Order: sequence, then structure tokens, then C-alpha cells
Amino acid sequence: MTDVATPNDGGAPAAGKSCGTCTMCCKVLHIAALNKPHGVWCPHVKQGKGCGIYEDRPHECRKFHCGYLSSNLSEEWFPAKSKIVLMADATGGITAVVDQSRLEAWREQPFYRQLKSWSRELLAANKYVVVRIGKRAIAVLPDEDFDLGAMEMDEPLVIETAPGPAGRPIYRARRADPGYAARASVAKAPQK
Ligand code: SF4
Ligand code: SF4
Repeated sequence: MTDVATPNDGGAPAAGKSCGTCTMCCKVLHIAALNKPHGVWCPHVKQGKGCGIYEDRPHECRKFHCGYLSSNLSEEWFPAKSKIVLMADATGGITAVVDQSRLEAWREQPFYRQLKSWSRELLAANKYVVVRIGKRAIAVLPDEDFDLGAMEMDEPLVIETAPGPAGRPIYRARRADPGYAARASVAKAPQK
């Protein structure tokens, strides 16, 4: 990863970086300890100020540092303004979680250009860039973006290659198992 260094790793924010008045991850992320779904504000947010239970916030909130906070990315990526929260996924790829109040934020510049650049770089190591809008997942590949529909965060995807012009590969994305999300939601349903 070029600029987004080990987000979500529990380490300290990068030099000169702080959350300030940003609380975007408190909206766009699922917080399991609070049973808070993604896309809705945490009830503990004090708008424009921060966490209302800062000293007692859950461990998953304490350890989370988004890609902006833990890297040297410029102020344009400040999540409160960009409406994009960057995270590393389990494989070392990048997940860009977009606030549903600005669905097309990831297509704006300089964000889209940078996502494409990361995609080209990460593909060489079999890692991917995925935009998340709620449960919807969009694989950002060098030539084309693939809307994969509703996917679980841990659901695998497959990248296929085909010969392109001048021997350059063309990449395509698909879900590894179209039935995965349905089975996962059944598995997570409350037991009676
Ligand atoms: S999205 Fe990043 S900068 Fe904003 S509050 Fe969360 S960790 Fe801090
Ligand atoms: S508990 Fe605090 S840090 Fe965690 S999501 Fe809620 S407002 Fe954000």
C-alpha cells in the first residue's frame, strides 16, 4: 500500500494527525459491541465534538485508526470532509467505506484517481480495492469497476484475468460464492 499504512492496527495515529471533530467511523461502521449497524450514527456521538463516552468506549473503537489517521494522506481525505473511511481488509487490501449521504464521493477526485492507483499497485500482490456503501460492495479494478451487490465484509471475491490489448491483462471481479451472504445472514440470525 503506498500511502495508507496499516489502518485499524491499534497503533498510534501518524505524526500530526488526529480525529479532531471527525466522527465519520461512528456512522459508517458496524460496531459489534454496541450492536450498532453500519450507516447510522452511534447514539453516543456528540456531533461536532466526538465520542460522548470516550473514557468508556468499546475496545473496537479504541483500537480503530482509519487509513487517513494512520497515514500521510492529505487533508482532502479527512473523513468528515471526504465522506470516505479507509480501512485495511484482512488480506492487506483497501476497503473504502462511503457515507450514504454522498454515495458518489468515491468517484470524485482526487479519490477515484487514488483508488485506481492503489488498485493497480495491489493487484500485483493479489490484493484488492473495494468500495463499500452499506452492504453493497464495488470492486475497483484498473479498467472497470464491478458492482457485486450486497456482500458480507468477510465474503471472498475472485479476480479473473483475460488477455487484453498488447498483451496487457484485463481484470474482472466476481463473487466467489453467490450464496455466501444469504447463508451468513441466516447463521447470524438470533437464535430463538
Ligand atoms: S474516521 Fe478516522 S479520523 Fe474520523 S473519527 Fe474515525 S478514526 Fe478518526
Ligand atoms: S462509542 Fe464513541 S467512538 Fe465508539 S462508535 Fe460510539 S461515538 Fe464512536
